[in-house]
Amino acid sequence: MNKFTELQVDGYERVVRCDNLEVGFTAWVAVHDTTLGPALGGCRVWKYDSDEAALTDALRLSRGMTYKNALARLELGGGKAVVRTDLAAVDRAELFTQFGRFVEHLDGVYITAEDVNSTLADMEIVQRETEHVATVGGSGNPSPFTAYGVYCAIRACVRQKLHRDDLDGLTVALQGVGETGGRLAEMLFKAGCRIIAADINPVNLRNLQKKIDFEQVEAEQILEVESDIFSPCALGGILNDETISRLRCAIVAGSANNQLLQEEDGEKIRRRNILYAPDYAVNAGGVINISCEMEATYDAEMARKKTEVIGETLTEIIELSEREGLATNIIANRIAEEIIAAKKTDGQGAGEHQLIKTKSHQETAAGINRA
Ligand code: NAD
Repeated sequence: MNKFTELQVDGYERVVRCDNLEVGFTAWVAVHDTTLGPALGGCRVWKYDSDEAALTDALRLSRGMTYKNALARLELGGGKAVVRTDLAAVDRAELFTQFGRFVEHLDGVYITAEDVNSTLADMEIVQRETEHVATVGGSGNPSPFTAYGVYCAIRACVRQKLHRDDLDGLTVALQGVGETGGRLAEMLFKAGCRIIAADINPVNLRNLQKKIDFEQVEAEQILEVESDIFSPCALGGILNDETISRLRCAIVAGSANNQLLQEEDGEKIRRRNILYAPDYAVNAGGVINISCEMEATYDAEMARKKTEVIGETLTEIIELSEREGLATNIIANRIAEEIIAAKKTDGQGAGEHQLIKTKSHQETAAGINRA
C-alpha cells in the first residue's frame, strides 16, 4: 500500500513522498511551480544510494522543468518524479501501477511522462490509474523533436554569430550520437555540414555510419576538434573550468541537459567569444511535442511547427546577451523568470484544471515586455 507524506521544502509548491514496502520503492514528486499550468516532468527511476540523493535530484530536476517549460512558452509548470528502487528486484507492472496511484493522489497538479528508466509501456500502465500522464496520447518518442529543436537552435546561432542563413560547409563536432545526437547528425549532414563525431558506444557510431558519411574521433578528442559548432549530445557538466579553455569552436549548442557545471561557466564561455546556446532552451523540442498531445488530437506536423519557436527564443536570448553584455544562460534564466512573473502579475495563475495549451511566441513576448 502507498503511504503518502507531505514534505515542506522552501521554494517548492508541493513535495510528496510515497513509500510502498510491499512493492519495494520510495518515490518523490516535487512540484516546483504551477504559475503557468500543471507541473509537467518525467518519472526518473534510479537505484539511488540514499533517500537524500533521490529527493535532491527530484528538487533540482523539477526546478529545471519550470524554467524549460516557461522558456518554451508552454502553459505548463515544472515538476518531476523520482523513484528509488532496484528495477531488477521489483515487479515492474506493480511498481508503475502503484506509481500511477501516487500521481492520481496528486489530483492533476503534476503530470508525469517517460524519463530515464521509464518507458512508454510503463506509462501505459500508469494510465490505467490516472489520466495525468503524457506521452501516451500519440506523441510517442520525444527524441526526434528534441533533435529537430537543436537543429533550429543551431540555425539561429549561426545566423547571429556567423551571419549566414545556410549551414552549407560548416563543421560540426558532435559528442554523442544516440537518440538525439544521431538524428541531429543526419539533419546537419543533409544541410551540407561536415560532421565529426565521437561516442563511447560503437553500436551507435556504426548505426550512423549506415546513414551518413562522417569522421570519427576518440571520445577524449571531440572537445578539441576545430569546428564551427560543438554539439554536446551526451553528458551533463561537460562545460567546466577544465574543458572551456580547450574548446575550438564558435558556437556550443547541443541536446545534453545541464551542460554547464556551474552557472559561472556561462560567463567564462562568453569571455572566450564563444556563443553558448543555453541547454534547456535548445533541448525543449521533446516537451513541446508532449504538450501537443494535451491540446487536442496529436498532430506531428503541428508539433514540428511549434518546435521551431526554439529558433526564435535563441535569437531573442542572443540579442539580449549581446546588448547587455551578459552570458546567455543568465539571460535565459531571466526571460523564464519574467514569463512566470508576468503571469503572476496578470493574476492569471493557471490552476490545475486549466486547459493546457502552448502559447504563441508573440503572445508570450508581449508578456515579457509588460513585465
Ligand atoms: P542517448 O543515451 O540515446 O545518447 C547519448 C549518447 O552519448 C550515447 O550514444 C552514449 O554512448 C554517448 N556518450 C556517453 N558518454 C559519452 C562520452 N563521454 N563521449 C561521447 N559519447 C558519449 O541519449 P539521448 O536521448 O540522445 O540524450 C542525450 C542528452 O540529451 C542527455 O543529456 C539527455 O538528458 C538530453 N535530452 C534528451 C532528450 C530526448 O528527447 N531524448 C530531451 C532533452 C534532453
